[in-house]
Amino acid sequence: MKKSATLLLSFSLMAVTSFAQSNIAGFSKTAAEAESAAEKKFDANLSAKNVDDYIRQLSAMPHHVASPGGDANAKFITDKFKSWGFDTEVETFYVLFPTPVTRELSMSGTKNFKASLKEPMLAADATSGQSGQLPVYNCWSADGDVTAELVFVNYGVPADYEKLERMGIDVKGKIVIAKYGQSWRGIKPKVAQEHGAIGCIIYSDPKEDGYYQGDVYPKGPFRPELGAQRGSVEDMPIYPGDPLTPGTGATKDAKRLDRKDATNLLKIPVIPISYADALPLLQSLEGPVAPEGWRGALPITYHVGPSTNKVHLKLAFDWQVRPIHDVIAKIKGSELPDQWVIRGNHHDAWVNGAGDPVSGLAAMMEEARSLGEMVKTGYKPKRTIVYCAWDGEEPGLLGSTEWVEYHADELQQKAVLYINSDGNGRGFIGAGGSQALEPAFTEILKDVKDPQTNVSVFDRKRYSDIVDAGSAQKKKELIAKTTFDLEALGSGSDFSPFAQHIGIPSMNLGFGGEDDDGQYHSIYDSYDLYKRFKDPTFEYGVALAKVAGRTTLRFANAEALPFDFRNLQKTIGKYVTEVITLSNDMRENTAVENQLIKDNYYKIANNATAPLLPPAAKAEVPFLNFASLQNAVSALEKATNSLNDVMGAANINDAKKAALNIKLYKAEQTLLTKDGLPRRGWYRHAIYAPGFYTGYGVKTLPGIREAIEQRNFSEAQQQIEVAAGAINQLTTYLNDAVKGVQ
Ligand SMILES: [Zn+2]
Repeated sequence: MKKSATLLLSFSLMAVTSFAQSNIAGFSKTAAEAESAAEKKFDANLSAKNVDDYIRQLSAMPHHVASPGGDANAKFITDKFKSWGFDTEVETFYVLFPTPVTRELSMSGTKNFKASLKEPMLAADATSGQSGQLPVYNCWSADGDVTAELVFVNYGVPADYEKLERMGIDVKGKIVIAKYGQSWRGIKPKVAQEHGAIGCIIYSDPKEDGYYQGDVYPKGPFRPELGAQRGSVEDMPIYPGDPLTPGTGATKDAKRLDRKDATNLLKIPVIPISYADALPLLQSLEGPVAPEGWRGALPITYHVGPSTNKVHLKLAFDWQVRPIHDVIAKIKGSELPDQWVIRGNHHDAWVNGAGDPVSGLAAMMEEARSLGEMVKTGYKPKRTIVYCAWDGEEPGLLGSTEWVEYHADELQQKAVLYINSDGNGRGFIGAGGSQALEPAFTEILKDVKDPQTNVSVFDRKRYSDIVDAGSAQKKKELIAKTTFDLEALGSGSDFSPFAQHIGIPSMNLGFGGEDDDGQYHSIYDSYDLYKRFKDPTFEYGVALAKVAGRTTLRFANAEALPFDFRNLQKTIGKYVTEVITLSNDMRENTAVENQLIKDNYYKIANNATAPLLPPAAKAEVPFLNFASLQNAVSALEKATNSLNDVMGAANINDAKKAALNIKLYKAEQTLLTKDGLPRRGWYRHAIYAPGFYTGYGVKTLPGIREAIEQRNFSEAQQQIEVAAGAINQLTTYLNDAVKGVQ
């Protein structure tokens, strides 16, 4: 607004008129009308009956990686996409995938016991007795044959081992038993191994997802006594995907590591068991009574151990490289074919997987079918839409990671947005993703109706959050709030390689909250259970299709891509405050605790009937210098505000707007750091990563936060500069984008 204020002002007013009165961010009034009409058609095509049919069909057989059922499903999905008019191909990668050959768990001594390691067939569940099921196992456990005393380690996270140390219990040379919950399962054997354990057992305590929570299957949806949770224990916080090809696509002739050199593989054997199998083992434990927070819902007094009985664990696996099949289906964009909006959900399951992943996949297929119908009658999205049905997600995001690694350069040029789902349930929308997407996503949630209450899915979630809020203050804040907060993305599904390895703006979506069950990764995650307890009318499948479909269509058709980096900036600012508080609190706590230890407080306060050793004194926490980070956040604020001022202004001609769009969708790539995170360089995003000791749980500003948590303060200081550098990179980039349109 320098040269001709009057002229520009009138242009800006027009701009405000043409864009601000549109009810869809990124669309002019006319374009918004066309978009709304298209979305109405899109919705009208969606059918709960189809969602039901896909779920029944795709969960009819066990369909894990490289199984006949898996291959049949990949073919079924491919044929469907082809019939709906998509340019469809199957991309095959060759990945290591171990399957069990020997599984033995027994105990000898005062009581002899042999674990069943088998989920029984149930008459009420039609697919539970099928052949071809993968037995109960943890994929990527090491081969091993170990015999030792047993120690109970609660959830098996680092804090539990600190407690054990105070109880004077060492797990070195022992087998540990941990319960499912709190951390992602792969963390449990990893931390056990770090502490010198030689084997690990993970069991499902009824307090977590069994009779303590509700009636067990088939009366209710919770885990029955012999139900067990399969799952991956690949060290995904190091890197996900094929362990033999980190950073590159696992094509047939890709260069492969030797298995012993793969840094994301465990060295100790680990197996998951049911609580029926766990009970005799836990009963054999001696030593101190477990702290209150460690106790589960079994009818025993929980002890920590060790046992005098010996536990024997023998596991062997068939370590084969096997083919996986990603189904990739495209509708070419009419105006911007080289800009891709990508929508994905995995198709492999541990067994039948009606909930995980088929319920999300079915919604995605219905989205694609509806879009296909529209295209057949002449509709054209502006940008290319790519649907991906991933294989090999369960063992370690294999299909998506290998695809992203193989196509990384092309994706960094073309990918506008990646929209993920991974199963779906009933109740409330849950969503994570890049916060720059919040305003646009909020509009979408306000336009989709909740099937049970007929209010918007935005309000359904909002009202529930308000009712559940812990204080009057919090309730008031939430009542005043008009946008939806996207959670920070950790890991646990196929968005991870897109977001954290190559910096593509990503989202993860699904409904839940009224669909709790205890059948995660068991043979009872079946069509029968899904229909009875999860989404009986399949209307939430349709609701997910509406939310994810709208997100896909709006980003495919927007004239100005609706990224709002002010939201991202505010969120980063919040994370910065958090890490500063974290280091200050830790400094104060450490000083106080060290004083208590020194002055014998722990000795005198000790409970003589259940004595604990005092904690070890810790090194003092130095003051860290956060200035560069704080300055970076404030410079980013200015940049995002001026970007917002110029976006949508009418003095931008079409060519400039087009150039700005490309800048916008690539902006998040500037938050990638050259070296990635310390000791896990595959993760390159400076703002989000799965936690090294939480697994799926996110760590924001991960380099800084984890260095503080692990008390590595020189690294924390170094990581402050790295994160500040990445944020400054984004600022410079956005400032250039602004200059480009002035
Ligand atoms: Zn899944």
